[in-house]
Parts: sequence; C-alpha cells; structure tokens
Amino acid sequence: MKLVFCGAAQTVTGSQHLIEVNGSRLLLDCGLYQGRREESRRRNAHFHFDPRRIGCVILSHAHMDHAGNLPTLVAAGFRGPIHCTAPTADIARELLRDSAHIQSEDAKFLNKRKNRHGEPRIEPLYDQEDVERTERLFHPHGYREPFDLLGGLEATFLEAGHLLGSAIVQMEIPGRNGERDRRLVYTGDLGRPNQPLLRDPEFVRNVDVLISESTYGDRVHEKEEDLKERLRAILMRALERRGKVIIPAFSLGRTQTVVYFMNTLFDEGRLPRLPIFVDSPLATRVTDLYRRNASYFDEETARALREDPDIFGFSGLTYTRSAEESKALNDRPGPFVVLAASGMCEAGRVLHHLRNGVEDPRNAILITGYQAPNTLGRRIAEKSPRVRVFDEWFELRAEVQVFEGLSAHADRENLAAWYAATGGGIEEAFLVHGEPEAMEALAPLLQPFAKNPVRMPSMHETVEI
Ligand SMILES: [Zn+2]
Ligand SMILES: [Zn+2]
Repeated sequence: MKLVFCGAAQTVTGSQHLIEVNGSRLLLDCGLYQGRREESRRRNAHFHFDPRRIGCVILSHAHMDHAGNLPTLVAAGFRGPIHCTAPTADIARELLRDSAHIQSEDAKFLNKRKNRHGEPRIEPLYDQEDVERTERLFHPHGYREPFDLLGGLEATFLEAGHLLGSAIVQMEIPGRNGERDRRLVYTGDLGRPNQPLLRDPEFVRNVDVLISESTYGDRVHEKEEDLKERLRAILMRALERRGKVIIPAFSLGRTQTVVYFMNTLFDEGRLPRLPIFVDSPLATRVTDLYRRNASYFDEETARALREDPDIFGFSGLTYTRSAEESKALNDRPGPFVVLAASGMCEAGRVLHHLRNGVEDPRNAILITGYQAPNTLGRRIAEKSPRVRVFDEWFELRAEVQVFEGLSAHADRENLAAWYAATGGGIEEAFLVHGEPEAMEALAPLLQPFAKNPVRMPSMHETVEI
C-alpha cells in the first residue's frame, strides 16, 4: 500500500490523501488550500497526480478545506464516484455553488481595481458548470452501511461529530499475496463529545493504519460555560459602545452554534436582546437542509426540530437575502451582531463588513474557528496593527477576541481519549491537518497506541507500508 500526502501535510488546509492499493487509486478528500492568494491559487489549480487516473474520491465532510477543490478535480478530468454521506452531499452542493459564486463576485470586485492599476486580472478557480458536473458524481451512503470500492476494498462512514454529515472513514483492505487484511481509518475532522446539535464522534477499534487530524493537538478548549460568559461580556461591551460585533463564520456549522449560544443567553435573561444578522446567501437554505436531515442530529436537536422546524430562528434574528440588504448593514448604526462567511476572512461578504468596521474601536471582531497562516483571519486573530482587505490597508482598531472553544474540532484531551479507545496496536500512525507545533505536541499522546514511530508526513511525501 502506498500513501501520498498531497495536502494538509504539516498544515491544516487542503486535505488530499492519495491511497494506492491492490491496483486502485483513491483519494481521501479534495480540499482547498487557504493561505496567501498567489500561493493558494497555484496549489489549488495544480494537482500532484493525474486526476484522470483516480478511481474514486471518499469525502469525509463538506467543509471547503476537504471538499472545496472537487470541481477543479472534475474540470481536470476526474470522472469517478465521490462517496460521502447523504447530508455531506446536500451541504457540499450548497457550499460549492456558493464558493463558485463568491469566487466570481470577488474576482469582479478585485478586477475593477486591478484594471485601474493595469494589473493582470484574476480568474475564478471554477464556475457553476464545474460544480454541476461535480454534483452528478456524488454517491451518498448512510452511516454504518459498508459499500464496495475498487480492488475489493470496502469502506464505511462512521459519525465524526464535527459537522452535519461529517464522517470518519473506515476502510477494510484485503491482503494480497499472503499479506494479512488491514483496516485503515481516516479521522477526517474529529468533533468533540457533548457539543450542541451534533452527535458524539464514534470510536473505532482494531486499527492497523491511522490517519488522524491534529488541528488542536496542542490546545485544551475552554469550557462551554466560560465561553458563554466571555461571549456575554463582549456583547455587553459592544452594547455599551453601540458598536458592531462582526463574526466571520462558515455559513454552516459554527454559525448555528454561535446563534444557539446567543439565543440561550437571551432566554436565560443574561443579555439584553440585540439585533443579529446572519448575512449569508446560503442561510435561507440552511433551515430546509437541516430539517431534511433532522435524523442526523443528536436526539435533543432532532426532537426540537420536529417540534419547531425553525430552531435557528428567534425574534431579533434576521437572515439577509439580497446583496442590498447586506450593503444596508454598512450604514446601520450599532449595536448589532453580524455573522458572515468566510470563516477565515478570505472571501465573501465578511470582507465588506471588515472593510467598513475594522478601524472603528467601538466594534468587536470575534474569531470563532481555526485560522490558517497568511489568511486575513489569522492576521486579525494575531492582532496585527494593520490588515489588508480587498488589497487596501486598514488600521485594526476594533476589539479582537479569539474563541477557540467554539471550534468543532477535538482538542488534545479529546484526541487522546479517542486514541485510547482504539485499544492500541496501531501499526502505522500518521498525523495530518495540523501545524507542526500542534503535531509535535500531539504525537506523544498517540505514540503509546502505535507500534512504529508516529509519522508527520511532509507535503507530497510518499510512504510505502
Ligand atoms: Zn471541517
Ligand atoms: Zn478540516
């Protein structure tokens, strides 16, 4: 068996792991790399392998760093099935359409400026047609329902508890030429137990080859109650200053968690109600999508969705639809909260809110998820004195708060508990989807359960096992 790590190697974004075994080639995830614009473009536009020779893709979940480069793969000639869970197919469809739309809008906006300066135009990575061709390749499967792959392999999706539809991939690889059968497990992005909305991640035993994420391998997340208290304090300060609170977030997943937290603060009477805007063209379709997939949530949420299909709607919460409604927020006086994509501030409507809001010290910016190096989100999280939005420089005067505990990723304690639950005896263990410091800190927690030294493959590294 040969593994080639073509993305998310010594870094978090751009997940793409190639497996060659028993004469077939399959790709685990096909995500977008996020970082400096030029470098991202180059990495995302070119594959390290021939897409026409990939038999199938197994998609762990719909986030852009795992699914976002599928249309480029299809445009480059990939024609095989894309296996995923049913909710992942639903969500990925929406996110990819949205991504193509955002890319063309941002290109238009930037090209106006570039034309004026006589700079070369930028072209979107893919368009709606590429997305439609990609959608036709989705093969949805239920959780815990094994399905056949090429080369006599069998795969099963298990609950990863990270996003609706997110899966751990378990693969049974039959041994050839007297070799024994092996079980390969790819964690995808692993969630945390006891999160609002989502089911808990499942455990897997008897793992021979493990490919594990390591995003927060060096952190322990804050407790939910401490986070809520901190969120309350920020919102109270914003209320007093009559400022805006800008929350960059994915349109799916974290947005619903933040809205859910704020709603409980209102309901408990710990915070005066203030207007909240979810400024995302996707959001109108979110409730439908969630309702359609109610059975995939945890018991509590599934019950709540049956009783009130609009659990993410409450008084004072507005989902903006048109671009005009979104622009009107620029002139609206505070206090209010606005959530907008993208989560790492690399594209989309959040850029317009930041452009209008970063220089005003009455405002606050809440960073709620992982920020890749060299993204605008990372610079804000690190409180750089000046930040570049749409190629223009701005002073960063707004209050910045980082909320890692809202992350849908397991922290080092959750990961250690998950490793322990494998029962040990892992033949080969690989850490991916993490920055070097996170991997270094996590490896000693995984080592006791692995026979050989834990590996942290570098970009494009090929490992024969
Ligand atoms: Zn994810
Ligand atoms: Zn990820």
